[in-house]
Amino acid sequence: MHRVYLDNNATTPVLPEILAAMQPYFGERFGNASSIHHHGQEARAAVERARQSVAMFLGCATSEIVFTSGGTEADNLAIFGVVQPGDHVISSQIEHHAVLNSCRQLEGSDCEVTYVPVGGQGRVDPDDIRRALRPSTRLITIMMANNETGVLQPLEEIGRIAAEAGVCFHADAVQAAGKVPIDVRRIGCHLLSISGHKMHAPQGVGALYVKKGTGLRPMVHGGRHERARRAGTENVPGIVALGRAAELSRQALTRGENERMAALRDRLEQTILSQIEGTNLNGSAAPRVPNTSSIAFDCIEGEALVIALDLKGLAVSTGAACSSGAIEPSHVLTAMGLSAEQARGSLRFSLGKQNTGDDVDFALSLVPPTVARLRELSPVYNRTAPSPRLSRRM
Ligand code: PLP
Repeated sequence: MHRVYLDNNATTPVLPEILAAMQPYFGERFGNASSIHHHGQEARAAVERARQSVAMFLGCATSEIVFTSGGTEADNLAIFGVVQPGDHVISSQIEHHAVLNSCRQLEGSDCEVTYVPVGGQGRVDPDDIRRALRPSTRLITIMMANNETGVLQPLEEIGRIAAEAGVCFHADAVQAAGKVPIDVRRIGCHLLSISGHKMHAPQGVGALYVKKGTGLRPMVHGGRHERARRAGTENVPGIVALGRAAELSRQALTRGENERMAALRDRLEQTILSQIEGTNLNGSAAPRVPNTSSIAFDCIEGEALVIALDLKGLAVSTGAACSSGAIEPSHVLTAMGLSAEQARGSLRFSLGKQNTGDDVDFALSLVPPTVARLRELSPVYNRTAPSPRLSRRM
């Protein structure tokens, strides 16, 4: 069966160049990067080369990169590494659960958290952050790009607010890395998370940028790996892959490959919006990463549409992969003012570097007839009078 994968915000396939770069570190170059003999030094050199690549990718010094097991650990290290009992934290209602549930955990240990809202386009208003500041505010943690809508947040403005207030600023850039340029100095953040498997490296590796001078308590205790910021023998093949992914992403950004992806994504979403009545693009007027479309389909159960499309070979998603199977509508879309039904009827299409125009054609051959068939079965869909455009808070 022909299969097309348009769920790259959940995870991306490992690119052949990246697999080739990491493969020797499973075999002949198997050393422990802490060993002083040849094998160890070979592994250490590879880890440090990868650190250099990731540092160049983010615009920082190599000493400011801490390798982790992924985005979730990087987010946790950023948050629990700086916040202490009695502190106040500012976050938003649309963060990934790696941040949201860390904040909930803090609330159980004598910390207070303000979750700023978003407008109808899914953007945080920096003034809401400014207003939420308190003398006890220790950390602002706001994502760079949302995983469900792809909407980019005004991080540079938030960075300026954090600097004026002398507050630590963490950015979860897991869904932005490889899709838009990232420059930690321009953003003005102290901490920034990325994850390998969202940028065509494997699952289980990530990194946290930690600005020089930022006091960070380690979460994992053990040896003095990663300058005593993250204990544990390094995942050398994973780190090598992340380094290669950072190099390829940097090249792709300078070669304009992301414009190619934006053109494919725009054709996909424009055709769906024009061919299918009762559809709306979530975050349509906001700046977005070039690979993501979140589309609300009136009178459609998103899970049913995902399953129907999967049976025909197209992989898409209703939103965050970790909430699949959950009955709760997306907290991101409801925070943007969508009703529970509109949120449940929303599908996320997310492209990767491997996708082609043929993949978009395949998706476009399946989505309109599948939506039409599901609507025919829907007791609430009135085919003679399509329901009005979704109205939402701006
Ligand atoms: N932050 C965002 C915005 C994400 O989309 C994800 C994963 O979907 C994570 C953090 C967690 O990253 P990881 O899967 O590497 O733990």
